[in-house]
Amino acid sequence: MKYCHHCAGPISQHIPEGDDKVRFCCPGCDVVFYQNPNNIVGTLPVYEDKVLLCRRAIEPRLGKWTLPAGFMENGETTLAGAIRETREEAGANIVVSASPLYTLYNLPYINQVYLFFLAALVDLDFKPGIESLEVKLFAEHEIPWNEIAFAVVRNTLENYFSDLKTGDYPVRMFDVNYSPERKVDIALVSSSKP
Ligand code: ZN
Repeated sequence: MKYCHHCAGPISQHIPEGDDKVRFCCPGCDVVFYQNPNNIVGTLPVYEDKVLLCRRAIEPRLGKWTLPAGFMENGETTLAGAIRETREEAGANIVVSASPLYTLYNLPYINQVYLFFLAALVDLDFKPGIESLEVKLFAEHEIPWNEIAFAVVRNTLENYFSDLKTGDYPVRMFDVNYSPERKVDIALVSSSKP
């Protein structure tokens, strides 16, 4: 951020009075521009023993498979955002249970929080949206594990197929970090069924 959204004057970076972090500030307007984490909301749509994945038509990870998910909009709830993204990216009609929250990931190194909700496909009338090349149902043995776009998606799928065997789907929260070898490390920090 170089110029102020309001007056187009130059931005300075400093710690505002009473704060403890460096912020983007406009001395002209006396305004502080706070930057906070983004929420990415999505679903894991299920049909019989299969899950619905989308093949990405956009960078990053173009051509890789992912769950329908995207940035939450102002004025919507996390669940409404996840359902909207599922409609936009997979053209899918879904319903959710009374307690659909399934996985939550904190990604402090990229200032993101991911939330995935369990959902059931209402019908097989799905089709790729503008951000997807292809939308397809996969049983566990059909999942293209080496072609999954994001570690959080892979982890959610792994948890789902493991939970499918017990019929129990606890809500889990994970912290995601990079190890010194730049490998993704996903640590379980909370589960509704310890
Ligand atoms: Zn300004």
